[in-house]
Amino acid sequence: MRTYTARGITLLVRRFRGSERIATFYTREQGKVEAVASGVGKPGSKLAGALEPFTLSDLLLATGRNMDRLTQAQVVEAWHHIPQEVTAFGYGTWMAELTARATEPGAPHPELFESLERHLRALDQGGKGAMISAAYGFDLLDHLGLSPRLDCCARCGQANTGVGRYEAEAGGLVCAACQMSHHHLALRPGHRALLHGLRRLVPERLQTVKPREAEMRQLLLLLRRHIAYHLGLTLKSDRFLSQLVGAEGSGE
Ligand SMILES: [Zn+2]
Repeated sequence: MRTYTARGITLLVRRFRGSERIATFYTREQGKVEAVASGVGKPGSKLAGALEPFTLSDLLLATGRNMDRLTQAQVVEAWHHIPQEVTAFGYGTWMAELTARATEPGAPHPELFESLERHLRALDQGGKGAMISAAYGFDLLDHLGLSPRLDCCARCGQANTGVGRYEAEAGGLVCAACQMSHHHLALRPGHRALLHGLRRLVPERLQTVKPREAEMRQLLLLLRRHIAYHLGLTLKSDRFLSQLVGAEGSGE
């Protein structure tokens, strides 16, 4: 059996047979990795630490016929504040689920790995979940080449000012002549400024942005619609978040 090493972030863990677990990692070297781990439910398991979500670990894996197997793990960093606070946990889970469902095994994006690492660390250090998760969501879309087009009309290409109507079907802002959908979102100068801040600032500096709640909510809505339409994903954690922080999942 061939073995390989990878540095990975634990995204999701589910029970398998008995004390076995199936874990989904996002790794720097291999992109998404799904692996089965044995003996995790037993006391003294050496793998248990790395199978806590929001953990960064060095992994030793063996390729299997159906699924790879986790054979050794060394925890590098555990972001243990995230699961202790329900809002942080909700946004962290959203980031993990988005990564797990939007990426493919064997398609590494080292910059996306680094982005996830830094955004989760910032969340663990008390950063605002809505801001951090939105910044990460737009970053993920960038890395996958699926960013919303906001600098010009997404239909005809005419330059615009980043203000106007966003239509998910068009993939971005559309000019007055190209408007087709009544199901649009209005983007105003405040949204443009906030989005600019989200996309320009490093995760550790996102704390300095103080958005209006309504503006943040509108950008989160845009992000969710874009993800739903262009990645075909409705995230389970969205429902949890909207129960947690009110309609459409902003709050704070
Ligand atoms: Zn147009």
